[in-house]
Amino acid sequence: MKLNTPGWPDEYGRRIDTVGIVIHHTAALTTWEAIDRYHRSKGWGGIGYNMGVSGDGSVWLFGDPLSWRAHTLGYNGVMAGVAIMCLDAPNDTQIDGARSAVAYLRSLYGPVPLYRHSDLVATSCPGRWDISVLEGSMTPNEKLELLDHLSQLWGISVELDMIRHPAEAIRIRERLIAIKQLLLLDLPTGEPL
Ligand SMILES: [Zn+2]
Repeated sequence: MKLNTPGWPDEYGRRIDTVGIVIHHTAALTTWEAIDRYHRSKGWGGIGYNMGVSGDGSVWLFGDPLSWRAHTLGYNGVMAGVAIMCLDAPNDTQIDGARSAVAYLRSLYGPVPLYRHSDLVATSCPGRWDISVLEGSMTPNEKLELLDHLSQLWGISVELDMIRHPAEAIRIRERLIAIKQLLLLDLPTGEPL
């Protein structure tokens, strides 16, 4: 995968941890530079996504992949954001690009789960399509590692989120269950669980 990087600097610090990757769409056909300008005009430190996938499927990395950015209110300190430049669902070339972006981020943070922006906050982002097509090719060991990670996240949501943010906690749990089912379906039989 060719990783494109823009020439401009940004002003975000590092995330405290990475427990997930949030998938977004831009809902507009524009340029990353214009989005960067727009996000700066709101007083943010630069474009709010960690990675972008253009219309032709090319993959962009914005700043330090470990930087926190402004893409999902309430989750920016612990989740990376990938945006696809499309109005609703991405095309096949963009899906390939987004798969590469997810694989790249997971190579840095481990096999953390994917979330739709709408899993976490009320929004129509990232459009009407199934992000499980981005889960890509994980090895059985990576899948087991992700299952282990999911149980930890489940524990966190039981302890905290049901009290303060019940609707969000329920959406996160539904997503965790869906990912778990997907992983279990996909694991070769005989793997220890
Ligand atoms: Zn979004």
